[in-house]
Amino acid sequence: MSISITKTKPAHEDRFETKGVTIAFTAPTPLTPGLAWRCADHPDPEFFHPVDDAGLAAAQAFCADCPVRALCLDLGHARDEYGVWGGVLLEGGKPLAAVKKPGRPKKVA
Ligand code: SF4
Repeated sequence: MSISITKTKPAHEDRFETKGVTIAFTAPTPLTPGLAWRCADHPDPEFFHPVDDAGLAAAQAFCADCPVRALCLDLGHARDEYGVWGGVLLEGGKPLAAVKKPGRPKKVA
C-alpha cells in the first residue's frame, strides 16, 4: 500500500521580500498581477472609509464598475476588514447598511 500526497500551489500567491524574510500571501492582494483593482491608484485611502451617507454613496459609485468587485468583497469578508470593499461597507468583515453615527446610541424605552 502506498500513499501519495500531492501539494498543489494556490491559485494566487504573492511573495514579498522584506529585511531578508519572504512573506507569502495566498489570497490576492492589490499587487497580484493581472487583477485590475480600480482603486489601486486612488489618491485618498480615506475615501473608502466614509464618515457620512454621501461619502458612502460616492465610494459605492466608484466601486460599481470595478472588474474585481466580487473578489474584493470576498477578501474584505475573509480578512475581517473595515471600510468599503466591493462596494459594501464592512465592519470587522460584516456588512453595515449605513455609516454609523458618532456618539452614544439612544436609549430604547
Ligand atoms: S471594488 Fe472598490 S474597493 Fe474593491 S478593488 Fe474595486 S474599486 Fe477598490
